Amino acid sequence: MTLNILFAATEARWPQYEAPLHRALEAEGITDYRLATEMPAEEVDYIVYAPNSDLQDFTPYTRTKAVLNLWAGVEGIVGNRTLTQPLCRMVDSGLKEGMVEWVTGQVLRHHLGIDEVLARQSGEWRPSVPPLARNRPVGVLGLGELGAACAGALAALNFPVAGWSRTEKHIPGITCHHGAEGLKTVLAGSQIVVLLLPLTGATENILDADALSRLPEGAVIVNPGRGALIEDEALLAGLDAGHLGHATLDVFRQEPLPADHPFWRHPKITVSPHVASETRPETAAEVVARNIRRGEAGEPFLHLVDRGAGY
Ligand code: NDP
Repeated sequence: MTLNILFAATEARWPQYEAPLHRALEAEGITDYRLATEMPAEEVDYIVYAPNSDLQDFTPYTRTKAVLNLWAGVEGIVGNRTLTQPLCRMVDSGLKEGMVEWVTGQVLRHHLGIDEVLARQSGEWRPSVPPLARNRPVGVLGLGELGAACAGALAALNFPVAGWSRTEKHIPGITCHHGAEGLKTVLAGSQIVVLLLPLTGATENILDADALSRLPEGAVIVNPGRGALIEDEALLAGLDAGHLGHATLDVFRQEPLPADHPFWRHPKITVSPHVASETRPETAAEVVARNIRRGEAGEPFLHLVDRGAGY
């Protein structure tokens, strides 16, 4: 029987994904299928989904076997009460590679003091030698697909890396912590802290005034996770008081970040327009097709979201 696959994302995504999805489905041996941006809800077997799509009511999709999210983050869909079908999130090698590059670049930028060097093109010869990475402890909050990959890349550059996750983890080369005390330990020991947590009820405002005060003097925050992980007012207060050195933020409570938002003009904040990493159509299509093949073979789906945990 023909498999009906609905592509439900913004119009702009369709030209990027159409050909890669066809290639990937065929590579998985799926040949009898229809892939389209519109079809009757009751005929849909799988939904390839981005949370900014118009599709918000999943009730009529009675025969849909899974919703395959194109993004790693699921906070825009996980709480949807009409969604009773299994939800899979995106774990994409291209997305991971991009995040490792972005995070490593931002950490090295702050570690090497590249901003100061660029600002100092004044004719004045003032050498300052940064410490070696081995003397710059970095904390990574979130040790999932992206956090663990970034932690590993930083550790490979000799940064002492401590990580924090919800459940206990053992990752070679990374000092792993979990639980409330674990967070305090990681924060207290991190000159640079990278946020790669999902946004859930448990992680919202995880960096509040108390948590930020635990960071060492001059600490730098790099946030490619989600904006609401940090309390905006507490961050501004910490930067203004001189306790925090800098914050490089890729994600915000409201995106696009409003033009009059104080983050844009703050001398110790770098605003990056949610570009840390993108799902890459070619590799993401392979993940989608693999999951459809598994669903049809009666195998468990990959990257199923734990609806209770929210990620
Ligand atoms: P994963 O689900 O693989 O990893 C999430 C990690 O966070 C896990 O280690 C998990 O712990 C930990 N975690 C979750 N809840 C808690 C908690 N309450 N306390 C402590 N640790 C917690 O997600 P990914 O690595 O794939 O992605 C992480 C996030 O990155 C996404 O949710 C998204 O918000 C963001 N992202 C941003 C992009 C950008 O361009 N800026 C691009 C892609 C993603 P455990 O291991 O124990 O489950």
